[in-house]
Amino acid sequence: MRRLVILLALPLALPAQATPPAQQQGQQRQAPQPGQPGRGVLGSVNMTAADSAVKRVVDRLDFTSYKALIKGLTEFGDREQGTPRNAQANDWIEAQLKSWGYTTERVKYDYQGSPREQVFATKIGSTTPGEMYIIGGHMDGRGGGEAANDDASGTALVMEIARILAAPDVTTNRSVRFALWNNEETGLNGARAYVDQRAKLQGIEQPKGSGKYPEPKWLGMIQHDMMLWDHGVPVQWNQTLDADVDIEFQLNSAKADESAQLALKLLNANRFFATDYPAAMSNAMSNTDSGPFQDLVAAVSLRENRRLFETGRGANPHWHRATDLYVSFSDADFRLGFNAMQTTLGAVARLVEARIR
Ligand SMILES: [Zn+2]
Repeated sequence: MRRLVILLALPLALPAQATPPAQQQGQQRQAPQPGQPGRGVLGSVNMTAADSAVKRVVDRLDFTSYKALIKGLTEFGDREQGTPRNAQANDWIEAQLKSWGYTTERVKYDYQGSPREQVFATKIGSTTPGEMYIIGGHMDGRGGGEAANDDASGTALVMEIARILAAPDVTTNRSVRFALWNNEETGLNGARAYVDQRAKLQGIEQPKGSGKYPEPKWLGMIQHDMMLWDHGVPVQWNQTLDADVDIEFQLNSAKADESAQLALKLLNANRFFATDYPAAMSNAMSNTDSGPFQDLVAAVSLRENRRLFETGRGANPHWHRATDLYVSFSDADFRLGFNAMQTTLGAVARLVEARIR
């Protein structure tokens, strides 16, 4: 009987049509063979041998796994900071990372007089372990629903990249840190605590001569916050045909030039490695966990829409609402988040020289 209830409930919540945009446009996309030139969202691109090596890593990203990680996070409701469901979600995230072989760590901090925690894990570079890129999403949410899009979609993106880079046959020259921020919704408190506690530890070998770096030098920070929904303004029922991944940096920051260069790296990676949706770049990054980093290191955010000019003007009706549920999103929506993941992993794999042995 339970199954019957689900079948009856689904059509109310799911969009009527969930076809990927390539099919909507009547285009046939063929997956390129390994080592062959890719056909990305902007057509064929000639790949170098190094690009083809990166593509082999990106091709391991799994759409079903990405959705399952989002679903797993939504089982804990909106994961609002300070609640038992938030603490349980942290434990679950940590257990997943451990199951892939990572040693996890926690940043402990204080929020309005109460202790809070957030989890991170690190893929340690094989030749230059003392330098890293940080990839982030925020595991807390609000609104009383499941915070599926804001921000299980970004948290799962970070986790799926962590899963792929954890494979025993994958090496990276530099390190990559996976940060699942808490307390984003209360004012970026988790990311600020990380910066406050750890900026000063950068690049210090500890103990001396061990080759271990508790806080590798920051090369860049890439944040993921709300990844699934680009239905246009006014909002359409389906993912729009011009849906894109928005890459933002902050022009009014000390590291604006470096951040713009990092954003360009992501834009170009999108052209090589994303399968369905293009990316666009703009300069008004705001209200997300890359903010506390923007005056210290190259910092960018990836989103379904520009935060100030689209999200802030009503582009996503589920934002901070009880309808931010797993069932509110179609495969075409999940596919936009998946393309952001291909974009980030493509760029980072190039930057840290990821390889499959
Ligand atoms: Zn968010």
